[in-house]
Amino acid sequence: MVLNQVLNLLLSVLRLIGSALYFILGALGLRGPLWNAFTYSLTNYRTAVVLIFVMPLSVVFDCYWRLRTWYIAKYMSAPALHPKRVQRVQEAVRDWARQGKKQRMCTARPGWLTVSPRHSTYKKTMHTVLTHDLTDILELDTKNRILRVEPSVNILQLIDYLLPRGWTLPVIPELDELTVGGLINGYGIETSSHHYGLFCDLAVAYEIVVPSGEVKRVTPKDKLFHCIPWSYGTLGFLTAVELKVIPATKYVRHRYVPVYSVEECVKKWKEFQTGEDSPDFLEGFMYTENTGVLMVAWYHAEAKPGDPPVNNINWWYKPYFYKHALSFVEEKRLRGAHPLEPVLPAPQPLHLLGPRESGSHVPQPHFPHRLRMGSPSQGSSAQAHRVSRRH
Ligand SMILES: Cc1cc2nc3c(=O)[nH]c(=O)nc-3n(C[C@H](O)[C@H](O)[C@H](O)COP(=O)(O)OP(=O)(O)OC[C@H]3O[C@@H](n4cnc5c(N)ncnc54)[C@H](O)[C@@H]3O)c2cc1C
Repeated sequence: MVLNQVLNLLLSVLRLIGSALYFILGALGLRGPLWNAFTYSLTNYRTAVVLIFVMPLSVVFDCYWRLRTWYIAKYMSAPALHPKRVQRVQEAVRDWARQGKKQRMCTARPGWLTVSPRHSTYKKTMHTVLTHDLTDILELDTKNRILRVEPSVNILQLIDYLLPRGWTLPVIPELDELTVGGLINGYGIETSSHHYGLFCDLAVAYEIVVPSGEVKRVTPKDKLFHCIPWSYGTLGFLTAVELKVIPATKYVRHRYVPVYSVEECVKKWKEFQTGEDSPDFLEGFMYTENTGVLMVAWYHAEAKPGDPPVNNINWWYKPYFYKHALSFVEEKRLRGAHPLEPVLPAPQPLHLLGPRESGSHVPQPHFPHRLRMGSPSQGSSAQAHRVSRRH
């Protein structure tokens, strides 16, 4: 893609400028003192750095990502060409064999596209196979509740496709940029569900080009199927994945359950996990050793008359989600209820499948089976912020 080439060029220019600066500063004997001043400022004035640089840059990147996803879906989508793209992968693998299998193979996906802070240079000396333009959603089979996609479809693209059609993934990884192939081969967990398992567990079949150049469709009855997750692409190149989907509802009914000890948290967590009316979503925050809140939610088709008002916590003026959840713990304390038998707040429908920020994503609980530990000031605030943006 032209855009990839432009970005690669930009990165190369930046690297060149960086190397030149590094050399000049070294020659002037300024490298050490300047580096110390730089790291000192980054550490001690990080609020300013985040506000002035990081946040605007993330907004720009978010806009870029939306534009890129929209562009791919609008102008580059051609599901009918899938067999041709698979043939191209097969050809690349056979070329590698014809050339005497001298190098190792890997995907040609550039490092900046992957969700990883690593700057990978190893691909330069390897036989690369193009898979990152396999970005099409191939088929939604509503009868069997199966979605067939190419491996470089990302989560944002999936959700934007599924929601307007009334479907969703049972487990939705929280980062929009993650790809189906990357999540499966790299065993990205992100979100897991006590009902559905990990993202990989949504797969019911893989199409893979193996080192002989043959293309295989494998299902749970094949050994290879079970070896693909966490294989980091060592078994072959994925060219399609079939995933389970479920009908989407418009809301979730959300309940906050304060807990006042680790034992209580574990006990309640187990009850929710295995109980009869086990919730669709189960997640929790531990703010301190003795203060936490579990959040449970059930899919809720429609907001009915008499339901509490919908709380769309996506709005910018809403409090951070971890603060919102904490208020239920504090409220309960004020009421002086017995710590082991918390009075539950009335079920509160939470806006589920509506517009997120400016677009249409899934503001549903993204962590249907996750417990966060630590005080908000020790790191969970960033995660909590992520939750609040997504809910
Ligand atoms: C900031 C950050 C936060 C993260 N947070 C979490 C977290 O909270 N929980 C969690 O579980 N994970 C987390 N991860 C890890 C992340 O989920 C995984 O690294 C995931 O695999 C990245 O997906 P990707 O689409 O970028 O894949 P890539 O990094 O591009 O690929 C992952 C692997 O899959 C292989 N692969 C990709 N496509 C194919 C294909 N078509 N055929 C064959 N092989 C292929 C690649 O070669 C590579 O080995 C985090 C990562 C980062 C950087």
